[in-house]
Amino acid sequence: MLTHPISITPSQELESTYTSGVYPKRDLTIVKGKGAKVWDEEGREYFDCVAGIAVAVLGHANPIIVEALTKQAETLITCPGIFHNDKRAQLLEKLVEVTPASLTRGYLSNSGAEAVEAALKFARLATGRTQVISTMRGFHGRTMGALSLTGNPKYQKPFKPLVPDTMQVPYNKLEKLEAAISDQTAAIVIEVIQGEGGVRPADQAYIDGVKALCKENGALLIIDEIQTGFGRTGKFFACEHYDLEPDIMCLAKALGGGLPIGATMISEAVAEKLHPGAHGTTFGGNPLVCAVSLAVINAIQEQDLTAHAAEMGAYAQHKINAAEIEMVREVRGKGMIIGIELKQKVYPTLVELQQRGVLCVPAGVTTLRLVPPLVMTKDELDSVLDIIISVLDS
Ligand SMILES: *Cc1c(COP(=O)(O)O)cnc(C)c1O
Repeated sequence: MLTHPISITPSQELESTYTSGVYPKRDLTIVKGKGAKVWDEEGREYFDCVAGIAVAVLGHANPIIVEALTKQAETLITCPGIFHNDKRAQLLEKLVEVTPASLTRGYLSNSGAEAVEAALKFARLATGRTQVISTMRGFHGRTMGALSLTGNPKYQKPFKPLVPDTMQVPYNKLEKLEAAISDQTAAIVIEVIQGEGGVRPADQAYIDGVKALCKENGALLIIDEIQTGFGRTGKFFACEHYDLEPDIMCLAKALGGGLPIGATMISEAVAEKLHPGAHGTTFGGNPLVCAVSLAVINAIQEQDLTAHAAEMGAYAQHKINAAEIEMVREVRGKGMIIGIELKQKVYPTLVELQQRGVLCVPAGVTTLRLVPPLVMTKDELDSVLDIIISVLDS
């Protein structure tokens, strides 16, 4: 099995010379994309089940995004938060419309980690408390605050000490949370479906319990929908599967359709505790990205990509299960976030799939994760599944 590139192309050599070195790199240079496909330098075609890691919901080079982007670029690109802006106003209105009814306002930033950082600061201001509990295998980003919530020792250990008063409890085990939460707890932060941590949906009883424990202890419930939001799971937000209305919701990834944006949606009660100057960012809520984001959300709604994701996801899970592959331990997920847990490490499978023209990402050490563009057609998905089944079954 290949563990290192056979040949390094000039652009791979160039990037390797100048990059920081913090990314484990694959032997592939992606130079072009269209819809659910991407191409490398030699013109080889790949089905893209990575999509910028659950980012490119509308696929690559979508004319809807190109048009919104170019039109806004010709009008106004930047406008700091101290002024009002028409596109930002429209996006905030839209976000409040599509998120659960408990969320009535939003703060715009540039990434998932930033959306989480804002949530942490807002939770402190709203409660006057500092303790924040998150879950093991949870992923919330890699800046110091977000990293303090990201329950993976591999990511945390080299950077200790982290933000004080943060801790992780096992996911989906209510008694562990019950033992940890108190009247000192500012907030609980969870993904209702862990993405990076292995594509693990929470149990309904767990989510109900978390909600009740937050209420009893006066702690805020922060839901991280950075990976699961915007139709991916077959509902507009994954928390709709659980009939859940959080106090704060973190959004990013698909929100910009490929452009960098994050959002921290908050309840009226949280907003009442914020004051001018409490937080801010130069680029957050810039008109260029807001215009694109608005077009992306409208397109998801108009094309009903949420329903398409539900249908395609169910079909994919059924097809993989029906193949009864010896190497597959379990298939998990909802809609177009699919985790195929193997009985062995996933890396060699990723390499082989890439050679066969399918790009996937891992979720943990043994799980293959598929997060394709929501515009992927049934025919394309069938081709992807046939290749995956043939690689896993060989
Ligand atoms: C990707 C991700 C983040 C971090 O987002 P960045 O934009 O990479 O900072 C946070 N939470 C979840 C659930 C994610 O999937």
